[in-house]
Amino acid sequence: MDALMQVSHVSYSYHTLSGETMALSDITFSVGEGEFLAVVGPSGCGKSTLLSLLSGLMEPEQGSVEFCSGPEETRTQIGYMLQKDHLFEWRTVYRNVILGLEIQNRMSPENLAHVEQLLEEYGLSSFKSARPSELSGGMRQRAALIRTLALDPQLLLLDEPFSALDYQTRLNVCDDVYRIIQKEKKTAVLVTHDLSEAISMADRVLILSSRPASVKKTVSIHFAQPGLTPMQRRQAPEFKDYFNEIWKELNSHA
Ligand code: ADP
Ligand code: MG
Repeated sequence: MDALMQVSHVSYSYHTLSGETMALSDITFSVGEGEFLAVVGPSGCGKSTLLSLLSGLMEPEQGSVEFCSGPEETRTQIGYMLQKDHLFEWRTVYRNVILGLEIQNRMSPENLAHVEQLLEEYGLSSFKSARPSELSGGMRQRAALIRTLALDPQLLLLDEPFSALDYQTRLNVCDDVYRIIQKEKKTAVLVTHDLSEAISMADRVLILSSRPASVKKTVSIHFAQPGLTPMQRRQAPEFKDYFNEIWKELNSHA
């Protein structure tokens, strides 16, 4: 697998009036083209900070974050999906979904046709003129994902995108989002404190230590049966072993 992004020896500290908070310490890893990478670590360890550095919103203090192929403008080809869906109630679902295209002045017939296709494919066509409040939590997250995919990003960054949802909805939305990412052949980095979620979706899990985050271990995830959905992975025999392995690593203080 060719690398899409290389993170090398990245460290980052926040400087505030009350002092310095070191968030990341000497982090190195790569993200393969088409890979689904999950990053797990305890709350407050620096996961969101890491994603901000990957997105280019913040610059590392030390080390580097580089796209391996293509020109610098690929940095704009990053999609972000957050815990809150940030849909605007004063806009219809359709006008929410095209918001990114509107802001970037990219409302070409081709791009709008792509939006239509995504809405159709992922079951939101008939809700185009609805308001976000009329959608279920799961549909809202799907709408937020379609808004991101409308911009055709090369890399999707997901920051605990399901943690605001109740457990049952979360399992369903997890399946939906996974299916969409696979179907659209996107490279994705998911950060989460929920290791079951990580194992159920990822090709590889990067385990971070508590703050300042450093990479404790990387675990490749393989299920004997190919093509399992996140829900099916949770029931597969390998799941428990991965859970135990990663749990142990998260809780070791070596
Ligand atoms: P996580 O996403 O893993 O919960 P964050 O990356 O949000 O962790 O935060 C890592 C650490 O950096 C935390 O201790 C947090 O309080 C601190 N931090 C995050 N953002 C800021 C900021 N803007 N200014 C100062 N400290 C911050
Ligand atoms: Mg966070």
